[in-house]
Amino acid sequence: MPDSIAAARGSRPRTVAILGAGPVGLAAAAHALERGLEPVVLEAGPQAAHTVRQWGHVRMFSSWQHNIDKAAARLLGATGWNAPPPGDYPDGNELVERYLEPLATRTPLKHRIRTSSRVTAIGRAGFDKMKSNGRAFEPFTIRYQNGKGAEQLAADAVIDASGTWLSPNPAGADGLPAIGEEAGHPQIAYGMPDVLAGKRERYANKRVAVLGAGHSAVGTLIDLARLKDEAPATEIVWLLRGEKPEKAFGGGANDQLVARGALGAAFAALVATGKIAIESGFKVSHITRYGARLRVATGRAQCCRAVAVDELVVATGFRPQLDFLREVRIELDPAVECPPALAPLIDPNVHSCGTVRPHGARELAQPEPGFYFAGIKSYGRAPTFLMMTGYEQVRSIVAEIAGDHEAAARVELVLPETGVCSGPGPVAALSDADSAAGCCGGPAPDPAAGCCAADVKAKDEGKKGCGCS
Ligand SMILES: Cc1cc2nc3c(=O)[nH]c(=O)nc-3n(C[C@H](O)[C@H](O)[C@H](O)COP(=O)(O)OP(=O)(O)OC[C@H]3O[C@@H](n4cnc5c(N)ncnc54)[C@H](O)[C@@H]3O)c2cc1C
Repeated sequence: MPDSIAAARGSRPRTVAILGAGPVGLAAAAHALERGLEPVVLEAGPQAAHTVRQWGHVRMFSSWQHNIDKAAARLLGATGWNAPPPGDYPDGNELVERYLEPLATRTPLKHRIRTSSRVTAIGRAGFDKMKSNGRAFEPFTIRYQNGKGAEQLAADAVIDASGTWLSPNPAGADGLPAIGEEAGHPQIAYGMPDVLAGKRERYANKRVAVLGAGHSAVGTLIDLARLKDEAPATEIVWLLRGEKPEKAFGGGANDQLVARGALGAAFAALVATGKIAIESGFKVSHITRYGARLRVATGRAQCCRAVAVDELVVATGFRPQLDFLREVRIELDPAVECPPALAPLIDPNVHSCGTVRPHGARELAQPEPGFYFAGIKSYGRAPTFLMMTGYEQVRSIVAEIAGDHEAAARVELVLPETGVCSGPGPVAALSDADSAAGCCGGPAPDPAAGCCAADVKAKDEGKKGCGCS
């Protein structure tokens, strides 16, 4: 929030409403406390880290050293907390048990979190969206539901870190639910169901299709293959919209996030065994009943290709929930649905190198003064978000809200190169020597000029980026 606004009020802004008690929302609250602000965290779920708990069985590809925010660690340190070994890779449950749960329940943050409090609308006190004069001087009004009815909170600034997990993309290839998708819901799961343990009965010895080609789809296919080893009648079908399954194999040894590189390599080996039936170029249009099974079809209703399965797992990514921001002045990239300044860095149409230069308040600011997106929601529909990027975002945003513009503008994070360039052809566009050097030919000489060497080279040549456009 501009200093002029704080000055007009006679003091610095105090209350910061933080939407979501995920890793990034909790980190934002830790930074706000350190800066003497008053954070109030509103969390839809019954406990902090509600959505991380839903993928608790998934092994993370970033190790502890990349998963813990510094301000959060300082708060925890004061409680006698033992930091986990930096080089170990937790799963989601361990992330909750060893970090997020203690942070939310054993530090001063415990008095700042309101659980079972789902934000339903945000406005500006006394101002509808049209009204401009004096708008920035009034606090935000945040409506939320906590089971007792509608509650309301006033805040000087808002950080929306409410994630995307609760709004998964549908199966339909055109971005709309496939015809019949809703009726098929009893046999459709979204995201990454725990096929090996919690949901084992549902999937063992069944014919299961997984739709998607990102990390979630790959992880679920690997787990299903393990399930098949124990329950041999399990049949696995991989449905992918693209024509090239090998794109899902990722950056392998070039990925500095070693565990993520290894996931792609393990998947490539698994596909080579033939345990998984592959249906590429499969753009789901219809889902209908077929006896006890679902008939998942690509193309028009009664023709073209179809598979019949007992269960369908849709892992086609996530999108931000924007309905409750109707009265907030926001500006988003029309394709990625992220703040416009971020789009050129993360748009998978341009490149999909996971390497995104660190960014903060400046890139995340919105036309509504004092309102910021943070965390995975700030990436809109792009799939490459890393927790540590979110921690740097909220460090910068909170500094800006507190009026420390110098700290807000500073970059305090070095991100690993990922080597994952799965855009339409960047790797092929490089010489062997270049591609062996790392992500799209290695890091950019000037990080402000592009995400990697090939990105800068392509832009110098007048292309959109990464040599793939
Ligand atoms: C399976 C999986 C594995 C991942 N592995 C890694 C990894 O290894 N390393 C890495 O860096 N990143 C990883 N990520 C990406 C990302 O870092 C995580 O998704 C991370 O949890 C994002 O944190 P967040 O705080 O932005 O959002 P979330 O963790 O999703 O938290 C958002 C919170 O907001 C709450 N909420 C939602 N709507 C509302 C509302 N209207 N009102 C109030 N509260 C609301 C939710 O209940 C949730 O608790 C992974 C993601 C997934 C899905």
